[in-house]
Amino acid sequence: MEILKSAVEKLHIHLTPLQLEQFQNYYHEIINWNTHINLTSITDYTDVQIKHFLDSLTVAEAFDFNKRSLELIDVGTGVGMPGIPLKIVFPEIRLTLIEATKKKTKFLEEVVKQLGLREVEIIAGRAETTAHDILYREKFDVVVSRALAPLPALVELTLPFCNIGGCCIAQKKGDIDKEIEQSKKAIEVMGGKLHRIYKVELKEFNDNRSLVIIDKIKATPVEYPRRPGIPGKRPIIS
Ligand code: SAH
Repeated sequence: MEILKSAVEKLHIHLTPLQLEQFQNYYHEIINWNTHINLTSITDYTDVQIKHFLDSLTVAEAFDFNKRSLELIDVGTGVGMPGIPLKIVFPEIRLTLIEATKKKTKFLEEVVKQLGLREVEIIAGRAETTAHDILYREKFDVVVSRALAPLPALVELTLPFCNIGGCCIAQKKGDIDKEIEQSKKAIEVMGGKLHRIYKVELKEFNDNRSLVIIDKIKATPVEYPRRPGIPGKRPIIS
């Protein structure tokens, strides 16, 4: 994990031996499971360190995760990105992971056990339904997501989880200005307000990565999110 260790220094993160061991175990779990079931296309040792772990940790540039007892949910976490790397580095986070694919949540359960992570809840389900559950609706200080959906659909899948005063941080690639333009209405309808677009400027990435930060300023109307699949199929576009 030497590549990760030195790369994250630029994010002002100094990994301890325990954290490095956790990342190493996480890498092994990904590789082992990937030989049986297809979980991710990124498997090369260097690529996992950069494209999965370092990329996930760039979120820490835009938000202070050292705040105490932070409730964080990662929507469409896949094999745990960015939620698990954030939890390894900031162990006090109270983490919830939601993922629609069962084989991925099985994997996540095993990772959490192997890495000895505490206060991690894994939900096998869709954001559209879970966001209507009173246990999870408007209960999180921070909602993170990476590669989940185009922004208009993404805000419908994430903002309902966020408490008023909290924020959503979406990891995005490519032409973000156009996506933002198309998302203005959806952001407003869901009770959000665009706070900031943070450009990720690391030499490891050259594909216009950014972090879109949306504040939650008022409650999401009860009819949102709409039924499973609808936010993606009929996004609210401005
Ligand atoms: N965040 C991860 C995975 C991105 S792929 C990463 O960056 O590596 C998107 C993931 O979101 C997939 O695993 C998919 O199963 C999940 N997903 C897509 N739509 C979802 C929804 N509506 N609710 C929950 N999970 C969803």
